[in-house]
Amino acid sequence: MWKSSLRIVKPRDLAEALELISAGGKPVAGGTDLFVRLRKGVESPQFLVYIGELSELRVLEEKEEGLVIGAAVTHAELLSSPLTEKFPILRLALRTIGSPAIQAMGTIGGNVVNASPAGDSLVPLYLLEAKVQLCGPEGERELPISDFILGPGKTALRPGELVRSVFLPFLDGSPYPYFRKVGRRRALVIAVASLGALIWTEGGRVKKARLALGSVAPTVIRPKEVEEALVGRPIDPEAWRDLVPLLSSATKPISDLRASADYRRKVAGSLLLDLAQSLQNRR
Ligand SMILES: Cc1cc2nc3c(=O)[nH]c(=O)nc-3n(C[C@H](O)[C@H](O)[C@H](O)COP(=O)(O)OP(=O)(O)OC[C@H]3O[C@@H](n4cnc5c(N)ncnc54)[C@H](O)[C@@H]3O)c2cc1C
Repeated sequence: MWKSSLRIVKPRDLAEALELISAGGKPVAGGTDLFVRLRKGVESPQFLVYIGELSELRVLEEKEEGLVIGAAVTHAELLSSPLTEKFPILRLALRTIGSPAIQAMGTIGGNVVNASPAGDSLVPLYLLEAKVQLCGPEGERELPISDFILGPGKTALRPGELVRSVFLPFLDGSPYPYFRKVGRRRALVIAVASLGALIWTEGGRVKKARLALGSVAPTVIRPKEVEEALVGRPIDPEAWRDLVPLLSSATKPISDLRASADYRRKVAGSLLLDLAQSLQNRR
């Protein structure tokens, strides 16, 4: 049940936040996911620990190897920072999150820990092979995003741990970025299926491909068979058509209120052809 008297504590620094979380506090950053869950009575923490203004989690810093994004950096801040210009795929996906208000409140850390198969920041994070940097009572550790996310709402976060930051390694070259999310309406859409891609091309053919699908399996997935089969293909939707069944078979969708499993599989296949078309159009 929602407790109107639920206490929110604002720690001075990360060390104090970790102590409070070990003492049973639940972290809250933007609150856009957590307050919905509290209202529904899905969770009833002893007290909340507001981590949204901790300087250690508000870092946005370019290093030699890539970009460090503090967990409490909001989607809106990422969209407006010149530091994310080198990651257009991240911007394409973040732009589709909720509404301007949700983008202003919601954080990358919250999106990652929420571990929704429809989490829109997750598609670019899987494509970019991001690392999730964690801190807790036993120190710091780092996990690839695909090892951190274990299933819908399930992560490898240990008791007392926080996501400190997400690290995005720089890419070689400038691959073509693609992100499309299909939903039941135009605004405030939760994806029925989404496809993100990074495509490196050479001489009119695919040199290398990374694909990530959202909302068609318990976690975001990288269909490696399709990525490999794309190498060497001409940039032409007709030359990719035979890969549609391969992509569909890589999905493990569920049927729910938003769409049937079969529809999700079909949408995933169509998105592959849309990617090819969009790649062809930009030449
Ligand atoms: C109307 C609406 C529309 C939305 N639309 C979209 C959408 O289109 N796409 C999408 O992907 N999401 C969407 N969301 C979901 C949500 O806005 C995002 O997932 C957002 O990024 C969550 O961030 P937050 O800071 O608000 O998380 P919070 O609600 O503060 O936290 C979410 C969870 O993560 C935990 N947590 C937060 N930060 C940390 C941390 N650093 N370490 C450990 N645990 C942490 C919290 O304890 C909680 O369990 C929508 C939500 C609403 C209400």
